[in-house]
Amino acid sequence: MMGHERIRVQVEGIVQGVGFRPFVYRLARQRQLTGWVRNTSHGVLLEAEGIRLQLDLFYTALNDEAPPLAAITSINRRIIATENSRDFSILPSSSGGGELQISPDCDVCPDCLAELFDPGDRRYGYPFINCTNCGPRYSIITGVPYDRQATTMADFSMCDDCRAEYENPADRRFHAQPNACPVCGPRLYLITATGEVVAGDPVKEAIRLLKSGKIVAVKGTGGYHLAVDPFNSPAVAELRHRKRRSEKPFALMVGDLARAGVLARLDPIEERLLAGPEKPIVLLCKREGNGIVPQVAPANDYLG
Ligand SMILES: [Zn+2]
Ligand SMILES: [Zn+2]
Repeated sequence: MMGHERIRVQVEGIVQGVGFRPFVYRLARQRQLTGWVRNTSHGVLLEAEGIRLQLDLFYTALNDEAPPLAAITSINRRIIATENSRDFSILPSSSGGGELQISPDCDVCPDCLAELFDPGDRRYGYPFINCTNCGPRYSIITGVPYDRQATTMADFSMCDDCRAEYENPADRRFHAQPNACPVCGPRLYLITATGEVVAGDPVKEAIRLLKSGKIVAVKGTGGYHLAVDPFNSPAVAELRHRKRRSEKPFALMVGDLARAGVLARLDPIEERLLAGPEKPIVLLCKREGNGIVPQVAPANDYLG
């Protein structure tokens, strides 16, 4: 056939666990290409076959339209023999040694945030909400290739609803390895220092404890955060005493940029950093009279 070709493309970088295979699948379907894509221990390998112009557009889009969390460090293609394949499919991962770059954990994305606060959504208020554009990666991985079985989520079997999302290439959670919901995923609970489960809503109870000056250890996907009320001097002092940490600054957690702006001065670059998907700790010039007790960052003009 005129101008009909097949290419093999090797992509390296952060391309697993970020929705790269469904992205390739959708691009290939858009351009009427056939072939396959799969994860390898080095990244993503794919073959695509179709009209040359469409293949060129497809190849360009692999780079230009990659999913938000992907970071391609190398991509190359070569022309191989055509196979007259009939469809485009996502193949199981090939295992084997090798180095793989995994995305860092990412803050919840706007789509998930909207679901989190939508009373009609089945994940309403579910703290472990995630999708291919957000959520934990690095801290849940126990092996390669990046598949559910090689994560700390292996023990949670997906319910029918989650499984359907996971298997649907058009879904935002297609092959989202940490996919979970209140029916099948991890749950929140609150325990005392001696291990007894506290009755009631764990979040409301934790807030009540923090407000009464207690220290709460919050277990997340990557370890524990020790939390304390930064407006309560004896409580912060107690945490410093128990951590045997006399002056290293503590970081503050705030709900949004507006709140951060009340506690510290923000320039546009700092705002962009704070709002980015990595949600890093950013050092900001503190505002006088913001009420944060000095022991949070002793003898320091900055707040993290
Ligand atoms: Zn998301
Ligand atoms: Zn589920």
